[in-house]
Amino acid sequence: MNFSLLGLAAPLLKAIKEQGYDQPFPIQEQAIPAILAGNDVLGIAQTGSGKTAGFALPILQQLQFKQEAKNRYIRVLVLVPTRELALQVANVFRGFSMYLTRRVKTLAVFGGVSINPQMMAMSGTEILVATPGRLLDLLESNALHLSELNTLVLDEADKMLSLGFKDEMERIFALLPAKRQNLLFSATLADDVQTIKAKMLRDPLVISA
Ligand code: AMP
Repeated sequence: MNFSLLGLAAPLLKAIKEQGYDQPFPIQEQAIPAILAGNDVLGIAQTGSGKTAGFALPILQQLQFKQEAKNRYIRVLVLVPTRELALQVANVFRGFSMYLTRRVKTLAVFGGVSINPQMMAMSGTEILVATPGRLLDLLESNALHLSELNTLVLDEADKMLSLGFKDEMERIFALLPAKRQNLLFSATLADDVQTIKAKMLRDPLVISA
């Protein structure tokens, strides 16, 4: 299997090569065509499976053909449980963005640091990678708007729930436009993940690696 068979455009294939990826991992082989086709996806995948590229690549491809939204209207929201994961996921998006036909800005936001620099950095952001509590703070400050959102990703959903973010997640869901693509990644399918799955996904394609 080769990345060029998964429906990805040349600028992404070039960036993949530069990252030194030779062949897609199994989760990528399944997730990339499913996401490009517009499906909601439930991915059962551990850290190390390559899930991040599995969602970042098709999201970037979809985004580069869309017009940039108005300033501070986010197109893609990735919710993550920790600051470390936020930084890591944002870097994966940035690494694959360099040859796109237009500039796409990714920003990571998380708690435990001051909010003002994050509010200023929001300008021009289309892909926001956020921990739930800080995202709600930023929304309350009107630093961003979610009404033009196309894609929601929940990464490491089981960890997000075990850290007690359920209420924050539900408050965020209530602010999202109904018509959107939803991607849910979790290492396990515990009961609370099933509940989020039922609330969040429409006819999802279930993949595992
Ligand atoms: P993740 O599970 O998304 O955290 O990715 C785990 C690690 O695998 C990261 O260091 C990625 O850079 C690397 N990786 C992801 N996909 C590939 C691939 N197709 N070939 C080689 N390395 C990869």
